[in-house]
Amino acid sequence: MAKIRVGVNGYGTIGKRVATAVAAQDDMELVGVTKTRPNFEALSALKKGYDLYVPEESVQAFNDAGVKISGTIKDMYKKVDIVVDCTPGNVGEMYKAQYQEAGVKAIFQGGEDHSLTGISFNSTANYSESWGAQLSRVVSCNTTGLLRTLNPIDKAFKIEHAFVTIVRRAADPGDSKNGPINGLEPSVKLPTHHGPDVQSIMPWLDINTMAVKASTTLMHLHTVVAQLSKEVTTEEVLSVLREAPRVRLVSSKGGIKTTAQVMELARDLGRDRSDMYEIVVWEDGVKVVGNTLYFYQGVHQESDVIPENIDCIRAMCKAEPDAAKSVEKTNRSLGITKD
Ligand code: NAD
Repeated sequence: MAKIRVGVNGYGTIGKRVATAVAAQDDMELVGVTKTRPNFEALSALKKGYDLYVPEESVQAFNDAGVKISGTIKDMYKKVDIVVDCTPGNVGEMYKAQYQEAGVKAIFQGGEDHSLTGISFNSTANYSESWGAQLSRVVSCNTTGLLRTLNPIDKAFKIEHAFVTIVRRAADPGDSKNGPINGLEPSVKLPTHHGPDVQSIMPWLDINTMAVKASTTLMHLHTVVAQLSKEVTTEEVLSVLREAPRVRLVSSKGGIKTTAQVMELARDLGRDRSDMYEIVVWEDGVKVVGNTLYFYQGVHQESDVIPENIDCIRAMCKAEPDAAKSVEKTNRSLGITKD
């Protein structure tokens, strides 16, 4: 079977990671990435051997800076089967029209609304819904995190109601514009959008969320309280989480007390860009009392959605009908293991 030809539009936090992950797949070819300005990220993409495509209006700036381009974004559309759109969250409508006009499939990210594509994606919860689709959307980092744990727990024990507080990182590590740099900022529009976003994939789940922005760049932290349909033991929940794809149990007693040590673990694992693709759950912080389950989980916002984008490409391009096989293949290529 011919390789799936993939273009990545937007080469920021998510786009550069999607590009690296696509380049690591034996059933995909990275045709190129797009940049709007000839900055250091454009140069590092070229250094990695990725072809650069730019908007028409940026051609002059790249030529003036002597940064080699392979054409415009529209030239890239002619060479690909699918575009992974990793542009910031407000240009989706414009690009959707371009992708449709060019007749290429497209994956959007969580900064866009579900209504843009009508289909949202998570590898284990609803892989088949994007089968052959022209457009889909990989849900946000927080929503992906919630689906990774709540979907298997719901399948095993049926969740009557979930309540989640999200302690959000204020900015990504390479971002010096956003904040707060000192202070905690509650999201006052309640309940927050995260619950409805989970429902774009698990519409039956009764879930409410609140969120607080915190002065950290490393990871998000969720506190989860779930009312289960029956009384279960803490050990039963742990055994479901142990088996759940892309969920990693860590322990406070084992020295991982904060998100700082989770990131140190990712560095020790030798991951590309020190990424922690898995959702980490504190094993010694899981507790069931009666039928109420409590736990904490950490989300590495820069990377948890990356394996999902790879699986979404396979589903949309009809490359692998079995979700579990795609997950396994992606995991192997990115070094995601259960040990
Ligand atoms: P980013 O700002 O780091 O990167 C966006 C990239 O798009 C930059 O390279 C920028 O130069 C480029 N760009 C800007 N305008 C463009 C345009 N008109 N055409 C082409 N490229 C353009 O953003 P990000 O954090 O990578 O976010 C991308 C998407 O992923 C958003 O929908 C976001 O909500 C979602 N997302 C972000 C995170 C995260 O924590 N960073 C996590 C999950 C999902």
